[in-house]
Amino acid sequence: MAPIELLPSLRGAAKSVKLVICDVDGVLTSGAIFLDQWGVESKGFSVVDGTGIHFLKRHGIQVGLLSGRKSAVVARRAEELNASFFYDGVIDKMPKLLEILESLNLPGSQACFIGDDLIDISCMRLCGFPVAVQNAHPEVKKAAAYVTRARGGEGAVREAAEVILRAQGRFGKIKERFYP
Ligand SMILES: [Mg+2]
Repeated sequence: MAPIELLPSLRGAAKSVKLVICDVDGVLTSGAIFLDQWGVESKGFSVVDGTGIHFLKRHGIQVGLLSGRKSAVVARRAEELNASFFYDGVIDKMPKLLEILESLNLPGSQACFIGDDLIDISCMRLCGFPVAVQNAHPEVKKAAAYVTRARGGEGAVREAAEVILRAQGRFGKIKERFYP
């Protein structure tokens, strides 16, 4: 799904992004958790989100995952995505985000946080380019500079990645690679 053109007032915020932090459940997934009778968990991820993360990383933008739930499946996906960092079981996300920003020596104004639920709002407020997915809670959408047209698990992260890369004038280079 093609991203919506950003308002000129928001282009500046997207242009400055050097770090993207994604919540996992409801953002990189639909929020569904599949459990079998032995308690083994599985989740569905979108291939296009994976490609979006790859594009961001290729253009020097770090991408990390920050999840409130502990999950071996997500750890496996984070590894596959070659995420810059992955933290799970983080109930209080804001102090963790501050720690991450400090370790990267990056101001929040250069970060994008993609969230869907109330737990994400404090992190979104710290970031220059807060993004909510289409299925996010209305309060989360209110806290966002950009609301994706795609739902979590259905390309929302890819859409946000393209918005950022277009604002930074890097999307043309990506297109050239595939159809010069
Ligand atoms: Mg969530």
